[in-house]
Formats: sequence, structure tokens, C-alpha cells
Amino acid sequence: MTKEISFIDLGLSEEILNALNDLGFTKPSPIQAECIPLLLEGNDVLGMAQTGSGKTAAFSIPFLMNIDVNLKAPQLLVLAPTRELAIQVADACAEYSKYVKGVKVLALYGGQRYDVQLRALKQGPQIVVGTPGRLLDHLNRKTLDLSNLKGLVLDEADEMLRMGFIDDVESIMATIPEEHQTALFSATMPAPIRRITKRFMHNPKEVQIKGTKQTAPDIDQSYWLVRGMRKNEAIVRFLEAEDFDAAIIFVRTKTATLEVAEVLEKHGYSCAALNGDMTQQLREQTLDRLRNGRLDILIATDVAARGLDVERISLVINYDITLDSESYVHRIGRTGRAGRAGRAILFVDSRERRLLKNIEQTIKKPIPEVALPSKELLEKRRLAKFTQQVQQQLESADLEQYQTLLEQIQAESGTDLETIATALLRLAQRDRPLILPPDPVFKPAREYRDRDGRNGERRLRGDNRESPKRRERRDVGEMDMYRIEIGKENGVEVRHIVGAIANEADISSRYIGNIKLYETYSTVELPKGMPKDILKHFERVRVLNQPMKMSLVAGKSSEGKRGRKSNQPESDDKGFAKKRGRPTAPKF
Ligand code: ADP
Ligand code: MG
Repeated sequence: MTKEISFIDLGLSEEILNALNDLGFTKPSPIQAECIPLLLEGNDVLGMAQTGSGKTAAFSIPFLMNIDVNLKAPQLLVLAPTRELAIQVADACAEYSKYVKGVKVLALYGGQRYDVQLRALKQGPQIVVGTPGRLLDHLNRKTLDLSNLKGLVLDEADEMLRMGFIDDVESIMATIPEEHQTALFSATMPAPIRRITKRFMHNPKEVQIKGTKQTAPDIDQSYWLVRGMRKNEAIVRFLEAEDFDAAIIFVRTKTATLEVAEVLEKHGYSCAALNGDMTQQLREQTLDRLRNGRLDILIATDVAARGLDVERISLVINYDITLDSESYVHRIGRTGRAGRAGRAILFVDSRERRLLKNIEQTIKKPIPEVALPSKELLEKRRLAKFTQQVQQQLESADLEQYQTLLEQIQAESGTDLETIATALLRLAQRDRPLILPPDPVFKPAREYRDRDGRNGERRLRGDNRESPKRRERRDVGEMDMYRIEIGKENGVEVRHIVGAIANEADISSRYIGNIKLYETYSTVELPKGMPKDILKHFERVRVLNQPMKMSLVAGKSSEGKRGRKSNQPESDDKGFAKKRGRPTAPKF
């Protein structure tokens, strides 16, 4: 298509070329190559391009070229939808103009003290970047004088519309003196934005950059259909299975930011919540910590994360799906910054499939489904990591002292070194076991209660219709996985196990989940929170004349147990009764 254009071809000043060189910008991005000449020629510009395409330099550089440094008054005004974006754009402008003597850039946003802002305005910045609300305040108070304005930029106009700032934007535009050049950038062109361009812009030149390889961030997307495991358990698996630098996890509510942060902290991740309750100062501190690597994961709401640009982010997890597909596009745009590859995973609840379809329509391509990272995969990764750690120890010089200890241990235990090493291996794996319990069987929990099949596959094939009432209860029916010490080699069949459990525990077979048979043992799913005494009872229950020796395998139990420790009431909330040591069927 077009031949390669360099920044020099665009006729930029020495000072700006040097600044771009310092930043490592070797050549203009497509939107820059098109917008810079148009703006330098004095046109109004209407730019459509995705995030990460380099819009900031596209609009700020040409205006910077025309700034009169001797005039200490705002000459370029940039409207940005959020504080974060305003700061980012202001920082970028300062970077691009760092060799241009006498240029001052100021960011004005809500939440900052007026006296601080007034003092800064008195210093005569030529470039002002701000959020619509605060800018309008300053205009109304007559503390911002725009009589010398040469350029006005609306950055991420559609975002301003979505955030409800469009009236403020119109008011600002109506207040500003006629004589100036306007540039408007938006990823999409909804009607109200079109209207603004008609009303306030003069024969704007349109620049539309299609998502080519260069501009569209390279984001590898997939979705996981939530089943078999809760989202806050699954997320730990996904994080462990992915190689990422920094990650951002999107949730729907403020409370969820805290909850998920707690879960991840427990698993040893350095993470923090980012939500609207935080002061601007704390928010900025948090982002700085993410930038400099003291934090690896942010758990954020959409509003809190708007415009966030941290190059380290290479993974976005949509823990809660977005209700509108544009937000999804914005979310995943937090990765793949500056042309780097990014990865996005979306959790989709089965009743949210329609939202997934909407997203696929918006991005005009299907999103492939991924499976939950399996026990095998996690074990492989853990072992690889562990082996690497062992290797490091082997290479370190001070093993001699430990050798003596080993001899002592051997003398005392009277076993061979290999067995001792095996025991040490088992001991060393505490937080992240090298051997994991079998994977839970993936099947929608609701089906389990709806049907009376004994066979998981039959249940899976069930239709997806469900009454609203059932939907509400769906999250209550969690299952735990148990292991019994009878397997194929004992000639056991599914019906034997169902029969034994149903009879002995007086649990209707419809409350028994998937059963899997292995050589020497089997696994069976039962309603979550089985009281200890019932479990004890099962230890003695016999199948094919052999004791089952049932034990809990799925890690889910801890939460269940904590809620109902010792001194239990006669019957707990899952309906397990303990009268005469004879349990009755759970009443859901
Ligand atoms: P947008 O506003 O379109 O989302 P930005 O202006 O924030 O994009 O730029 C996205 C990233 O790309 C920034 O990190 C920026 O420094 C970088 N960038 C911009 N232009 C270039 C360029 N010509 N060469 C290399 N990197 C660039
Ligand atoms: Mg931008």
C-alpha cells in the first residue's frame, strides 16, 4: 500500500524528533502518518482508531509544533474521559516536548484541590489536558482562559459519551472561541458524536485506521464456560497455567474486587484491588506499584480501570463478563499495549452465552473455548518449577552442612537415601502440592438437581431451559468430590456405588453426582458440606463386601467445614440430619 513514512518525512522539528528517538519510536504508526500532516496543514480531523494505535502522538505532536512558547496561555486543550487518561496524555505531551524550551503541560481533573490547580494555571501552561467536569468548572469560574486557544482535542469521545460526559463536552465546546482547530478521536461513531462533529467541526478530514496487524493489538482471546468449579477456584488455575508479566482481572462490583484479591493473596500472588472507593492518591500509588513490578495483578471494576495503560499487562481475565460488548473491547485493550502480544480469557456462565454471542458479533470473530487447566498441566508446571529450584540448590556451594544432617536423619530412620529423598520431596511441596487430587467432573450443577440419572453424561445432555426459580438456587448446590478405595480391579460398577451410598446414607440417588471408576479406587461427587459423622459412617459402609473408606479429595471442603465446625446443630443448612446416627436425605 503506502510506502513507509518516517518522522523526518513528516517535517517535525529537531527537538521533537529527538524526543521520539529517546522514546524508541522508530516510525509513525498509521494513524500518526495520516493525522500529523492533516493537522499540520490546519485541518480539523476526525480520527477513528482502536486503543493502542498511537493517537496521543498523532494529535499532540502537530499541535506542539505550533505552540508559541513565549505566550504563557493555554493553546492546546485536550479533553479526556478519565483522570487516568488525562494524566497519561499530559505525561505523553511532556515527553514529546521535553526538548522544546518553555513548554508547560498541565493536567486538570476532578478530585484534586482547586487551589493547587489555580496555582498551576497561573504558571501559564500552554497545554492543558483535563476531564470534562473539572474543565467546565474552571470555565464557569473563569479560572481557565481559552482566548488564545489554537487547538482542541476530544480524546476517546465515545468513552466520554458512554460515561455520560457528552453534555459537559458540548457545553465546553460551545464556550470556546470559534477560532481553533479541532481533532476528535473515537473508536466508534455513535450518533451523538456525529452530531458534535457536525456542529463544532469544520469540514473535518476523516481518518479511519482499520485494525491491521500493526495497529490492532495482538490479543489472543478465549473463553471458559464456568462449570465444574467456581470462578474463584478456576481463576487460580488459570493464573498458574498462564505465563504472564502482569495481569488485570475484571469483576463487576467493588465487593468482588476485594473478594478476588483475598483469594489470590491466599495463593501467594502480589495483587491489589482497584475500585472507585479508592482515593486518587491510593489509586495512583497502586498503578505505580504495578508499573514497577511490586504488584503483578490488579482486580478492577470497569470504571476504575478505564484508560489504564501499563505496558507490563500481558493478561486480561474477564472474571465477570461485560454486559455490553464495547466494554469488553475496552477491557482487553488493557493488554497488547505498544504492539506487544496479549492474552485475554473470558469467564462465561452458561446463562451468559447470549452476551458472548454479542461480543463475538462486535469483534467480528468467534472466540474459541478453552478448558480449565487440568490437574496434569498444573502438576507438570509445578514439577518443572520445583525441579528448577532443586537444580539451583544443587548448584549452590553450601550443601555440605546439610549433608551431615542427612546422615543423621538416615542413621535415625534406618532407611535408604532414596526413601528419605522421597519423603523430603513430599514435605517440600506444602503450599503447592506436586500431586493434585483428580479433576472435578465438569457438569452444570443445576442439571444435577433436575434429573434423576445416575450417569453424568445423560445429565449433561439435558436441555438448557430452566425456570427463574431454579436459576437462583444454582449456586447453592455445590459438590464435593470423595474418593473410595474400591476400583475396577475389585469388579465394582457405578450402580454398586450408587446403591451402597443411597441405601446406607439414605441419600436419594438423585443427589449423587458423577462417579468415576479407576483401577484401584473411584471418585464420587456428593452435596457439599457433608457432616463428619456421615463421612465416618461411610468409612465403614461396604461395597461388594469391602469397606469404602471414603475420604474427601476436592479442596473445596475447607470453606464448608469452617462454617459448621464442632457444636453443630442437629441438622445443618444442607439438610444433613444426624438423628440416631442415621442420615436422611438432604432437603434442598
Ligand atoms: P491510543 O491513544 O491510540 O490508545 P497511545 O497514544 O496511548 O494509543 O499509544 C499506545 C502506546 O504505543 C504507548 O505506549 C505509546 O508510547 C506507544 N507508541 C505510540 N506511537 C508509537 C510509535 N510511533 N512507535 C512506537 N510506539 C508508539
Ligand atoms: Mg489514547
